[in-house]
Amino acid sequence: MSKTSNVVGAADNVDKRGSTGRPPVLDAVDEHRIVEVTCLTCGLEDQLMLEPGRTRPWEHDASNASHVVEYWRSD
Ligand SMILES: [Zn+2]
Repeated sequence: MSKTSNVVGAADNVDKRGSTGRPPVLDAVDEHRIVEVTCLTCGLEDQLMLEPGRTRPWEHDASNASHVVEYWRSD
């Protein structure tokens, strides 16, 4: 099951998006974070409540690799 043609976000060193790669807010893994996300490509907005240890990106970001998504902390 490790070989699939549609692995998203499985490797930390993959930066195939046009943006900056993994946002710094996702690396603050030891804190609760509230992160506002906006897709600059299609205008979708959301708010993520990230628990300590969570480093996954926004689902929309993960499933639309070509979209440019901004993350910023709001807490
Ligand atoms: Zn989008």
